[in-house]
Amino acid sequence: MTNQPISCLNYIGGQWQAANNGGQIESHNPAQWNEIVAIATSSDHTDVDLAVQAARAAYRRWRLVPAPARAEKLFRVGELLQQRKEELATLMSREMGKPIAEARGDVQEGIDCAFYYAGEGRRLFGQTMPSELSNKFAMTVRMPIGVCALITPWNFPVAIPCWKSLPALVCGNTIILKPAKDTPACASLLFEIFAAAEFPPGVVNLLQGSGEVIGSALAEHPGVDLLSLTGSSATGAKVAEICGRTHKRLCLELGGKNAQIVMEDANLELALEGALWGAFGTTGQRCTATSRLLLHSDIKAEFTARLLERTKQLKIGAGIEPSNEIGPLVNPAQLERVKAYIDIARNEGAQILIGGTAIDNKEQGCFFQPTILDGVTPTMRVAREEIFGPVVVLIEVTSFEEAIEILNDTSYGLSSSVYTQDINRAFQAMRDIEAGITYINGPTIGAEVHLPFGGVKQTGNGHREAGNAALDVFSDWKSVYIDFSGKLQRAQIDNR
Ligand code: NAD
Repeated sequence: MTNQPISCLNYIGGQWQAANNGGQIESHNPAQWNEIVAIATSSDHTDVDLAVQAARAAYRRWRLVPAPARAEKLFRVGELLQQRKEELATLMSREMGKPIAEARGDVQEGIDCAFYYAGEGRRLFGQTMPSELSNKFAMTVRMPIGVCALITPWNFPVAIPCWKSLPALVCGNTIILKPAKDTPACASLLFEIFAAAEFPPGVVNLLQGSGEVIGSALAEHPGVDLLSLTGSSATGAKVAEICGRTHKRLCLELGGKNAQIVMEDANLELALEGALWGAFGTTGQRCTATSRLLLHSDIKAEFTARLLERTKQLKIGAGIEPSNEIGPLVNPAQLERVKAYIDIARNEGAQILIGGTAIDNKEQGCFFQPTILDGVTPTMRVAREEIFGPVVVLIEVTSFEEAIEILNDTSYGLSSSVYTQDINRAFQAMRDIEAGITYINGPTIGAEVHLPFGGVKQTGNGHREAGNAALDVFSDWKSVYIDFSGKLQRAQIDNR
C-alpha cells in the first residue's frame, strides 16, 4: 500500500465524478494522524439532486428486474468481496484504526450479507391465505419502496453499508449511500466492487461528504422514499424530525449502553474473556460494546483483580500490526470526548482502577488506555451515557433481580449479556431484559447476519436490520385479492 492519499469521488448514475462545488474532505490514519489516507470530494445539495435523479430514473427499471436476476448481482458482490477481502481489511485498519483481524471480520460480515440476501432473490416469500368468499384468492407480495438513502457510521465501514444496501437492492429499490466522512476510502472501494458487479447505472449511488450537509439534504429531499441511518441517538433525532415532516420511511439504528451481568455462579474465566472482548474490542467503539459490568458482590473482588491483570497485558498499537489487540480511537475529537468522560467520572467520584489517560505521542495516534472505573453508581453519567471508547464501569449488585433492574435502567436497549450457570436465571434474563439482543454466556458483541439486529428504547425506532427482518424495512406488503366468481362479492356482507 502506498502512502499516496486515495482520491475518492462520488458514484452517480454509473459514473465516478467530483462533487459540484469542488470541496474536499480528508481521512487520516488514526494510528498516525499525520498520514492522510484519502482525499474525498465533498458533496452539497446539488450533488444530492443529481444522485436522487439517477436513482429515481433507475428505479423504474430495476424494480421490474426479476428478483433472482437482481440477486445475481449480489452473488457477484459477495465473490468480489471475497477476492478483495485482504485489500479492504488492510485499508479499513488504516483508515479507521481497527485491528486487522477485526477488519477482516467486518468485511466477512459484508460477504455473509451478500450471500444471505442473494439467496433472498429466490425467496422474498409472501403468503397465501384463504378468502372468506367463494371463488376468491388472497395473497401478499413484497413491493419495493423506491429510492433509499443510507447513512452510515465509520465503525463498521463495510459491514453496515452492506447490511443496508444489499437487502434494499434485492427488494428492488435503488440506493444512495452516504458514508461517514472518516471512512470515504472504504466506501469508495466497496463501490468499486458494486461497479464491477455491473448494477445498471443509477441503481447504486455514492455521495461523499458531511452528514450535516448532505445527510440533511437527503432527509429533506422529496425524491427520497426511505432513509436508513446508523449513528448516534442525537443524529437519529435530527433526521427523525425531518423525515416526520417529509413523510419518509425511516429506519434508525442508534446508540447503546450495554451491560454484562456476572453472577456468583458464573464461569469466571469465560466471563472475563467476554468482558475484555466486549469492553475493549474495536477500542470500545461498537454500538454493542460492553460499557457496564454488573458484578455480583460475591465475585466482584476476584473478578476485578483478574480483569485488571488481563487489561494490563493488552497490547495497544496500530491495528495493522497483527499482534496489537487495541487500536486507536477514530479521530482526535473522539479522543477528546473520551478524555472528557474521564474528567466527568472523576468529578462524580468514580475511581480509576486502570487507564484513564491518552497515550501521548504514540506516533501521533489517537490512542487511549483501556480504562476501568470502579465505585460507579447507576445514576452517574458514565453509567448512563454512551462514551464510545475503551472505558468500562463496574457496578456491584447483590441479586439477580437487582442486576436486571440496573441493566434495564438506561435510555438505550441494544445488547445485553448474562453469565450464569443457572438455567432458570438464563430464561429469566431472556424474558426480562429490555434489549434487542441478549447473549447468555457470551459477550455483548457477536451479531450474526441472519438474525435481526437492533434495539429498543432510544436505540432505534422499532425496526431491525439484518436477517429476514431487514426485508420488512426495505419492502412494503401489498395484499392482493383475485375474484374469479364473475360477480360482485361484498366482504363481511354477502357471506353472512
Ligand atoms: P454520527 O451520528 O455522528 O454519524 C453517523 C452518520 O450520520 C454519518 O454518516 C454522519 O455523517 C451522518 N450525520 C451526521 N449528522 C447528520 C445530520 N444532521 N443529518 C444526517 N446525517 C448526519 O455517528 P458516528 O460517530 O459516525 O457513529 C457512532 C454512533 O453510531 C454511536 O452512537 C454508535 O452507537 C452508533 N452505532 C449504532 C449502531 C447500531 O446498529 N445501533 C451501529 C454502529 C454505530
